[in-house]
Amino acid sequence: MLRLVSQGALAFSSTSTWSSSITSLTYRGIRLWSAAYTTTSNSVPEKLHVCVVGSGPSGFYTVDRLLKRYGDGVHVSILDRLPTPFGLVRSGVAPDHQDTKNVINQFSSIAGDARVSFLGNVLVGRDVDVNELRALHHAVVLAYGAESDRRLDIPGEDGSPGAGVFSAREFVWWYNGHPDARHLPIDLSKVRSVAICGIGNVALDCARALLAPPLRFVPTDLAAHALAQLTGDHQTGGGSAVREVHLVARRGPVQAACTPKELKELLTDCGVSARTATPDQLTVSEADSAEMKATRLKRRVFELVSKAVGEASAADAATAAGDRSSPQRRRDLFFQFYRNPVEVLRGPGGAVTGLRVERTAVRPDGPGGTSVAVGSGVFDTIPCDMVLKSIGYKSLPVQGVAFDCRRGVIPNVAGRVLQQTNATASSAASGSTSGSGGGGKGGVPAADVGLYVVGWLKRGPTGIIGTNLVDAEETVDSLAGDAEALLRAGEMSHGSAGPPGAAGLEALLRQRGVRVVGWRRWRLLDEHELAAGRAAGRVREKVTEVREMLRICGFAVE
Ligand code: NAP
Repeated sequence: MLRLVSQGALAFSSTSTWSSSITSLTYRGIRLWSAAYTTTSNSVPEKLHVCVVGSGPSGFYTVDRLLKRYGDGVHVSILDRLPTPFGLVRSGVAPDHQDTKNVINQFSSIAGDARVSFLGNVLVGRDVDVNELRALHHAVVLAYGAESDRRLDIPGEDGSPGAGVFSAREFVWWYNGHPDARHLPIDLSKVRSVAICGIGNVALDCARALLAPPLRFVPTDLAAHALAQLTGDHQTGGGSAVREVHLVARRGPVQAACTPKELKELLTDCGVSARTATPDQLTVSEADSAEMKATRLKRRVFELVSKAVGEASAADAATAAGDRSSPQRRRDLFFQFYRNPVEVLRGPGGAVTGLRVERTAVRPDGPGGTSVAVGSGVFDTIPCDMVLKSIGYKSLPVQGVAFDCRRGVIPNVAGRVLQQTNATASSAASGSTSGSGGGGKGGVPAADVGLYVVGWLKRGPTGIIGTNLVDAEETVDSLAGDAEALLRAGEMSHGSAGPPGAAGLEALLRQRGVRVVGWRRWRLLDEHELAAGRAAGRVREKVTEVREMLRICGFAVE
């Protein structure tokens, strides 16, 4: 245990200065905390001070688990870089999935708890760094999610801004009113056809936003700028010109990453005609049959696609035969199965004109016999004016913490962050791949005691909101296993009172002039948005500019 204690203390002693009789923690000349230092006390401090970086689902579930486990013996600081809490629930969950957002009620009561301090508008790396957070708390849990994207790495992917290629994350942030995506150059009045690469649930969210009748979104909290583009307005008229969406999947319908419930919603609630690029795309191989037999969800996805495509072609045939009673669908959804994107095609001026794809076959050539898409050398062009890349989110590194650039996660064992090695230094964000490197026994880096990770940053960008509950439980279990050592390390460093936690952090941020949005200030903004929503007959009217948010939160903004 003592070895662990000294490791924990070392993490910040190199950047801190101390007086001999008073524990006066200074960092870069700023006094963070002081307390009478006693070496004779055997008692451990009463409270465990934990800092959670990120207030999305994984962050809040971590706080929840900590409160349940430690009762009054814990105080948690929960940080967000935005003035608004809830991360992906606010900026990621589709506006027409309001039920999913009900979890905000649970998170709000957690944040309002006296044992919790919400500190919004605090960017780690700009306003405070990880070492400072560690010096002020017994433990830090990184829960800042995935705010970047996997890349296709194909020609034409990167155009000048406004050149029609966006990640699904950017598009979702745009329609959800995330301040960073508020001004993306998206003009749906000029877009007729959209190719979405990938067929996971995020791709379906994007397809629904583009294809469903705009009235579906009027009562929701879809950002006003996005709603105006979908519906048009009395000044500009217009509205969305989108008439077709292509879901481009490198494998077949049986391997689609989406889930049946979400697929059914798109196919039955949105008034679309579903088609496949070619008739043979619903032919199943023996391996497909075996896969469907083994997994009911896969069979269900296949059945839903087949049924929808069958109904659309029957309706087409009836219309062609003069039957006017068959349902008129407003927009087309093309399944482009067995198609791998190879190039974004651009016309003069850089505007997107199409997506070039290579036809593929699915073979069991992946690790452990998993099916992978193999190119055929035959190419097609999907005409489109906009491309959305929905192939997965990716986390970003933070200074001073190990990072696996290839997987886009912080290397960890059950949530315990592994120490940085040459191969996993976060400066490797420039692009080097990760490796196990030296550091611990047998070349496996040792755990960086006192530093933990949870959520997409820990396991990669998979799973629904509820997945984070189990994930947070695991990380808090790991933290709890270290708690005694952490408490003693805190006592050695700070005296019997332990580190200052949220109070010390708030003092530091005040000293630095950071406009911290605490829970009371956030509630002002929350009330403002809800009232504006009520007036417009909507769930909420989101504020989408940080300056305006801060003004409503009670700060003087010039
Ligand atoms: P996802 O489910 O992992 O789907 C990613 C898609 O991108 C797959 O179709 C994948 O194809 C494809 N892809 C990956 N790399 C590619 C490449 N280089 N070229 C072409 N295609 C590529 O990811 P997601 O849609 O971003 O969703 C993330 C998580 O959030 C998932 O667990 C999802 O269920 C969850 N989510 C849930 C909901 C909901 O429950 N309503 C809503 C949104 C998100 P392969 O399969 O061939 O790799």
